[in-house]
Amino acid sequence: MTSDQVLDIYKRTGALLTGHFLLSSGLHSEKYLQSALVLQQPDIATQLCAALAGHFKDSRIEVVIAPALGGVFVSHETARALGVRAIFAERVNGELTLRRGFTIKQGERVLVVEDVITTGKSTKETIKVVQQAGGEVIAAASLVDRSGGTADLGVPYKSLVTLDVPTYAAEACPLCKAGGAPIKPGSRGLK
Ligand SMILES: [Zn+2]
Repeated sequence: MTSDQVLDIYKRTGALLTGHFLLSSGLHSEKYLQSALVLQQPDIATQLCAALAGHFKDSRIEVVIAPALGGVFVSHETARALGVRAIFAERVNGELTLRRGFTIKQGERVLVVEDVITTGKSTKETIKVVQQAGGEVIAAASLVDRSGGTADLGVPYKSLVTLDVPTYAAEACPLCKAGGAPIKPGSRGLK
């Protein structure tokens, strides 16, 4: 699947919006990605994640993990393509944690996934959860990289598409300087 095909799916499903947005990272941007609108279509989710999983066919991945909620379907569908377990970490008092009886064995080979990576903060937290549980993080992956290639996750990182739209700190945001106020339609669902 090409980058253009992936972006086209986001556009076609109304998941790529234009305006003035406050992202979950705290940054402002003219573009807003709501991956849930793409992933609500199971056949599309399966296709996208199979393409993502293609990067890791020879990586002997044993478990795929994502931070909830945004990454859960990406974890599930990527794991389906790789024929391995899918788990997720979720926030308890703000801290990502393994719950529901999910475990990672000592030395297990883990792929960390997300729908969209902007600063990589949640992904890095998930990597830490895996490492503290004794797992080995082989790589990270997301459907969309909107970090402009700047997210330093400390592990190899693959995405299906890089969205080349600038993000701004609030004080440097030209949309704010022009007198606009950003909207934040979801909380952490907003990437
Ligand atoms: Zn702004």
